[in-house]
Amino acid sequence: MQDPSAPHLNVLDLAATRGDGVFETISVGGAAPQALEHHLRRFAASAAMLDLPAPDSATWRQAIRMVIAHLDSTSALTNGAEAWVKTVLTRGIEGDGRPTGWVYGTLSGDFSSERTTGIRVVTLDRGFRHDVAATSPWLLAGAKTLSYAVNRAVAREATRRDADDVLFVSSDGILLEGPTSTLITRTGDRLCTPGPDLGILDGTTQASIFRFAESRGMSTLSAHLSVDDLAASDAAWLVSSVRLAAPIRAIDGIPFAVDTDFSAAMNAFLLAQRE
Ligand code: PLP
Repeated sequence: MQDPSAPHLNVLDLAATRGDGVFETISVGGAAPQALEHHLRRFAASAAMLDLPAPDSATWRQAIRMVIAHLDSTSALTNGAEAWVKTVLTRGIEGDGRPTGWVYGTLSGDFSSERTTGIRVVTLDRGFRHDVAATSPWLLAGAKTLSYAVNRAVAREATRRDADDVLFVSSDGILLEGPTSTLITRTGDRLCTPGPDLGILDGTTQASIFRFAESRGMSTLSAHLSVDDLAASDAAWLVSSVRLAAPIRAIDGIPFAVDTDFSAAMNAFLLAQRE
């Protein structure tokens, strides 16, 4: 185990110079990594899209568990503290030909306000058509790459527009995802999320929530949605690891109803998840 504040990364590592690599951020609840196998599958899928060597899942699984055990040395996680773990795989030092990888973990911040009061979102044009993944796979839509400067820039744009988060829309008007989250809408007892064919991330939290909803007799589907579809739904959330389910309480400055009960049920389910 290493001190994360000590120097580790070579200045020529392509993660630092080009953002050339992939990562995962995994929630830790009750000292257990949540949706670990889904995260590892997505990590491998992202690496394949970037032509990086396939990550050895057994080694990463073991490293993740070691970091969690280290974080839980005082049993804070076993006693309910939330945490997260990040796995990073880069193309390595320029010219060296060997990848660099590490796992980092820390305690989570407090997201109780986002999970209960909710978040105000603005819709922003991502600048690509909804079928970008099929037409232009080299743009890596749907890979979780380290190149998140745009995802951070849109968060600043949201702040400038007096909002908390962003919902990306394709240039032809199809809702996509948040910069670090997946959209779920509820209409009656049906949950809907933008489909995986849209060049968006295959969300682990959304998948867990769909399993939860189905176990309660709700129906779930993936579909193409417009901003009007979102506005016409009964409730909606941006869901992600760590922050979990954040109900949307305003869209482009217009107040939107928060489903307090289902938000609480989803977050309780996610917090109780142990694998
Ligand atoms: N979409 C993007 C672009 C993300 O970066 C993330 C997570 O960081 C998500 C969706 C949500 O994925 P998950 O629920 O697996 O955290």
